[in-house]
Amino acid sequence: MNTIVENFKKIKSNINNNNVNIIAVSKTFSFEHIKPLVDFGHSHFGENKVQEADTKWSSVKKNNPNLKLHMIGRLQSNKAKKAVELFDYVHSLDSEKLATALAKHENNLNKKLSYFIQVNVGNEEQKSGISANLVDDFYTYCKSNLKLNIIGLMAIPPNDGNEEIHFKYLYETNTSLGLKNLSMGMSGDYLKAIKYKSTFLRIGSKIFGNRD
Ligand SMILES: *Cc1c(COP(=O)(O)O)cnc(C)c1O
Repeated sequence: MNTIVENFKKIKSNINNNNVNIIAVSKTFSFEHIKPLVDFGHSHFGENKVQEADTKWSSVKKNNPNLKLHMIGRLQSNKAKKAVELFDYVHSLDSEKLATALAKHENNLNKKLSYFIQVNVGNEEQKSGISANLVDDFYTYCKSNLKLNIIGLMAIPPNDGNEEIHFKYLYETNTSLGLKNLSMGMSGDYLKAIKYKSTFLRIGSKIFGNRD
């Protein structure tokens, strides 16, 4: 069997929970490299750049209606239209400007996506996401004013061994907002994320190998 499919099956057997979805993060890899997992029947794939995702996936997606594409990287509002056309989920919703642009293009294209609000849980300058103290207001704005389908919170915690503190915080905040999904956990910390009820793991290198 193909190594990538083997890697994927190994992760799946470690999780053993049908509420947990694995997003295979295929950024930087060519479609030829990813294809065995598509052929295997896996449906959730993640990318972090609109242009790269468009080139790689737009025709594949037309032929595979079951494929779900996840935008997990920073998204600029001038790319919102293309993002709405191509993706099914956006995990990096983090500003009113972006949210407004996405809502406008949803209306124009008559399409609804599912969204995660990205929270900068470690207050790291280089990372996207809104500050924790703004989450409640931003959620209300996106949901009530813009009618976006917000399904949960997302975070990339600092890689300092304290991920669980952040996962716990995200789980509790999510629950207090009445949200049902959580986007957290990557190759190095997905088992910890599951302890805090993550429903969407974003796993790249453990499936596809190291990126250059
Ligand atoms: C690249 C990326 C991942 C996957 O990281 P791995 O450590 O390779 O599993 C997950 N989430 C985001 C937002 C990413 O950009």
